[in-house]
Amino acid sequence: MCDFRPEPDEFRISPLPNGYERSDTYNAETTDRIAQNIRQNLHLLGEDATREGLQKTPERVAKAMQFMTQGYHQDPKKILTSALFEEDYSEMILVKNIEFYSMCEHHMLPFFGKAHVAYIPNGRIVGLSKIPRVVNIFARRLQVQERMTLQIRDAIHEVLQPLGVAVVLEARHMCMMVRGVEKQDSSTITSAVSGEFMKEATRAEFMKLIRSHAGGL
Ligand SMILES: [Zn+2]
Repeated sequence: MCDFRPEPDEFRISPLPNGYERSDTYNAETTDRIAQNIRQNLHLLGEDATREGLQKTPERVAKAMQFMTQGYHQDPKKILTSALFEEDYSEMILVKNIEFYSMCEHHMLPFFGKAHVAYIPNGRIVGLSKIPRVVNIFARRLQVQERMTLQIRDAIHEVLQPLGVAVVLEARHMCMMVRGVEKQDSSTITSAVSGEFMKEATRAEFMKLIRSHAGGL
């Protein structure tokens, strides 16, 4: 979990006048201030923050936190608008098994799992790669799973104005797992639908598709 390699399309590297490169996402002052707090927390937890293994930990944590909350600086509607196409297709389009990693806002611990997103276009479609990006933008914030599910549905509904949107998130929550509140292998499922997906037959088709292993992929 300590290898937070930036994704090339989401992190802009800006060369500074002195030739030193930094990622815009890791604001130097923010990183410094979070790192100071983490150092204090280590002390409060009874650790020696100066011992070798922990020396760079505060800075790593500060960057990891910024990485995991970078969604605050990204606009899902802009991403969707950037790849809209007129198209006469009006069958269900489903992107399933989108891996996501988020952080619960109650404990600041990870919850992670898979998202399944479907929509039925009404004259326009969106580039398929934008759907996982929208999921990621909402995941990389402090979240509750229920709200994240609604936000994904609403962003897609608002920009595409489709005949309907359906979103299902299946996730496991560290805050529950580490405390033994839930069995280690159980997951939390949330769903949100709009338009045509309010109809039972359409929703059933969607649920069947996300459970199927079409083509053995
Ligand atoms: Zn929690």
